[in-house]
Amino acid sequence: MTNTTTHKTDVVIIGAGPVGLFAVFELGLVDLKCHLIDILPVVGGQCAELYPQKPIYDIPAFPSITGQELTDNLMEQIKPFDPVFHLGQMAIGVEKIGTDENGVDIWQVKTDIGTVIECKCIVISAGGGSFVPKKPPIQGIEEYEGKSVFYSVRDMEKFRNKKIVVAGGGDSALDWANNLAPISKSLTLVHRRDDFRGHPASVNEMRDKVSKNEMSLEIAQIKGLNGKNGNLESILLKHKEKGEYEIPCDMLLPFYGLTMTLGPVKDFGFELHKDTLIKVDTEKFETSIPQIFSIGDINYYSGKLKLILSGFHESALMAQKAFSYCNPDKKLLFQYTTSSSSLQKKLNVK
Ligand SMILES: Cc1cc2nc3c(=O)[nH]c(=O)nc-3n(C[C@H](O)[C@H](O)[C@H](O)COP(=O)(O)OP(=O)(O)OC[C@H]3O[C@@H](n4cnc5c(N)ncnc54)[C@H](O)[C@@H]3O)c2cc1C
Repeated sequence: MTNTTTHKTDVVIIGAGPVGLFAVFELGLVDLKCHLIDILPVVGGQCAELYPQKPIYDIPAFPSITGQELTDNLMEQIKPFDPVFHLGQMAIGVEKIGTDENGVDIWQVKTDIGTVIECKCIVISAGGGSFVPKKPPIQGIEEYEGKSVFYSVRDMEKFRNKKIVVAGGGDSALDWANNLAPISKSLTLVHRRDDFRGHPASVNEMRDKVSKNEMSLEIAQIKGLNGKNGNLESILLKHKEKGEYEIPCDMLLPFYGLTMTLGPVKDFGFELHKDTLIKVDTEKFETSIPQIFSIGDINYYSGKLKLILSGFHESALMAQKAFSYCNPDKKLLFQYTTSSSSLQKKLNVK
C-alpha cells in the first residue's frame, strides 16, 4: 500500500502515545497545527496497547484512570485543535528541504507507505520506540510473511472468504477472531491453553461464536506450515493428547504480543544516549538538531523519570520554543486557561 500525498503543517509529531497526544494540546494553545504519525492502528501508545484496562494511579487529579480512559480523555481534550492522524504508518526519515524567508528551516517527514509531511518543527514522542510483533518460532515462516502470514490487519477485505487461522490468547487475537469470523470462509482460533488473557467480553463473544459453529477453537501449538510459493494450504498443530494434526489455512494471523525497538528514529541523526534514547536539554526539550524536539519516554536528560506526567510537563516547555520557530516575529504571552478569554475561545468553551 502506498500513499503519495504531501501534507503541510506547523508541527509533525512522531508517536501518538499519551505524551504525543498531550503535545497537540500544548501546541494548539499557541496556535500551532499538528499532524501525528503512529505505527499502530490506534492512538494511546503503551497505555492503549499494553495496559488499556489497568488503572494508573499517578496521573495528577485522577486517583485512578485506566490506560484507555486516559487515552480517550486526551483525545477529547485535543478535539478543538483538529489534529490530523496518519495511523498504521512508520515514520522512516526526516530531511531538511530548505529555509524560509526568516531563516527557519523547513523539514519533511516521510512514512513507510509514502506519506510526506512538510513542517517547521518535528516532535519525537516515540516512547520505547516502534512496536514490532513477536514472531512465532515456526521454521520457514518468513517465506509466507506478507502473502499469507500477517501480524496485523490493515484491510479486512483481504481476508474475505478465506480459511483464516488466528493464533494467540490476548485481546488482539480475540478481537480479530471475532471480527473476521463473519466474513471468512472458516475461522479457527488456535491457543496453547484454554485460558485467555483478553477482555472477558471478548472471551465470551468468542465462546458464543464457537458454540454456534461460527468459528472453531483449537487448543494446540502450531508446529509447521504447509504450502507453496508463499501461499499457505494448511498448518500443522500439536495437541498434548491428540498428537499432531493438520487444519486447512489460507491466511495465518499470529498475535503473540509486541516488543519495542528504537527503530528508524535511531538513524535520524540526533545525539543519542547509550544508543537508545534521544538527548535533550531541559529548557526546551530540543534535540541536538534545532527545530526537532523529543518528549516522553524516548528522551534522556539527567534526572529523567519515564512517567506520563513528566512527558506532559516536557510538552508544555517544548511548545513555547516551537512557537518561536514558527512565529519568529511574535512574542508569546504567558496565559492561564482559567482566565484568558483568547485561550478559552481556542478551546471552544467561550
Ligand atoms: C504495564 C505498564 C504500566 C505502566 N504504568 C504507568 C503508571 O502507572 N504511571 C505512569 O506514569 N507510567 C506508566 N507506564 C509508563 C507509561 O506508559 C509511559 O511512560 C508512557 O506510555 C510514555 O508515553 P509516550 O507517549 O512517551 O510513549 P508510548 O506510550 O511508548 O508511545 C509511543 C508511540 O510512538 C509510536 N512510534 C514509535 N516509533 C515510531 C515511528 N518511527 N513511527 C511512528 N510511530 C512510532 C509507537 O507505536 C507508540 O504508539 C507504564 C508502562 C507499562 C508498560
